[in-house]
Amino acid sequence: MGAMEVTITSRLLKRLFKKIAVSKTNFYNNSPCWEWTAYRCEDGYGRSNFQGKCQNSHRVTYLAFIGPIPDGREIDHLCKVRHCVNPAHLEAITHAENVRRSESARPWTHCAQGHEMTPENTYVKGRRQKRSCRTCELARIARKRRENPEPFREKVRRYREANYEKVLAKGREYDRKRRERRKQAA
Ligand SMILES: [Zn+2]
Ligand SMILES: [Zn+2]
Repeated sequence: MGAMEVTITSRLLKRLFKKIAVSKTNFYNNSPCWEWTAYRCEDGYGRSNFQGKCQNSHRVTYLAFIGPIPDGREIDHLCKVRHCVNPAHLEAITHAENVRRSESARPWTHCAQGHEMTPENTYVKGRRQKRSCRTCELARIARKRRENPEPFREKVRRYREANYEKVLAKGREYDRKRRERRKQAA
């Protein structure tokens, strides 16, 4: 397979950007990942039908925004987020380099999405004391909540019922503080 060239057209841009969301949680050097929101394969890579072939989506954005992939090179994700298609996070490297990078992959210093596992970002759960990434965990909960808000509302309702006095006291305390602030401002 020779070096493939892709010309950017309005149509291609429209097609691509319809399926891309700028990440709020995954970054590489302060630049957010472009998450592929359409079909994702089991290997975690985004896939799209392109020029009559099913291709990895990050390859398509690399070809479109950076240029042909030199023969024998593989595209590596600098951000380690497989479904990211941000061309600034992609690098065409040799197979040997790719192997070296994946062997020295950061298993415990970073989560699968590439967030650094600092003490603040590490969340220990369950009896097995499994470490997980707080950023990812919070994003997962927020997603679940967006998709299905009712159980969360129910939880809040139950908490309020069970801790009626506490919630009431807290509300009174809040009102008292607000009155005080107003008095001071006046
Ligand atoms: Zn990325
Ligand atoms: Zn994470």
